[in-house]
Amino acid sequence: CGIIGYIGSLQAKDVLIRGLKRMEYRGYDSAGIAVQTPLGLNVKHKVGKVAGLEAMVESMDIDGTCGIGHTRWATHGKPSENNAHPHTACANDIAVVHNGIIENYATLKEELIGRGHVFSSETDTEVIAHLVEEAYDGDLLDAVRRATYRLAGAYGIAVVCDAEPGVIVCARKDSPIVVGQGKSGALVASDIVALIDETRDVVVLEDDTFAKLTFTDGESTIEYFDQEGSEIHPSVTHVDWDV
Ligand code: GLU
Repeated sequence: CGIIGYIGSLQAKDVLIRGLKRMEYRGYDSAGIAVQTPLGLNVKHKVGKVAGLEAMVESMDIDGTCGIGHTRWATHGKPSENNAHPHTACANDIAVVHNGIIENYATLKEELIGRGHVFSSETDTEVIAHLVEEAYDGDLLDAVRRATYRLAGAYGIAVVCDAEPGVIVCARKDSPIVVGQGKSGALVASDIVALIDETRDVVVLEDDTFAKLTFTDGESTIEYFDQEGSEIHPSVTHVDWDV
């Protein structure tokens, strides 16, 4: 239901929780975050309020400046810790948050299980993590792009992987994704209200396009691509309303 992603100079955990709280008005049944840490992706899920997730991670040493978060409104699989996003594949090396419904997930799941993938949730979303894992060949953007070719239905997604620290890739089809360059880094969200503390200049992704967020030497960069992987230059929208 709500997607947030951050890469920058602040602790990701704090920015993600703040973003998730901004989107609480949309309703949800569970929440979770995945942060890139020196020890690998740290993924935490909690059923119920974001405040519960916040209390859980507050005392935890989740040291990292890049991550993704989600508030879930269950469509496939009951509300539970296992079904909460982010969903992972490849022994936690890839993490995905997703809004929407993957219509062909049952066929994809059967196919992936046939190729040896082990599933840990009942969601439609988890197939995306496994498809990205299969398509991954050293380039997360390329892997996400190729994975989405297989998806039917609606999706807004944000993906991180352990092998590419400081990179978030997002994609959309029939489910909103907005990105923006904030004061302290780059952000992605499914709702402009989650970005507004950091920036008022946003790009609303179009269907079948992709954004890659990176942060190096104190500078965040956002690049945009079409389905073939060619760079595109979408226009920036200035948001002047208040929340
Ligand atoms: N279909 C996904 C699920 O049930 C995503 C739901 C949502 O948009 O929050 O987990």
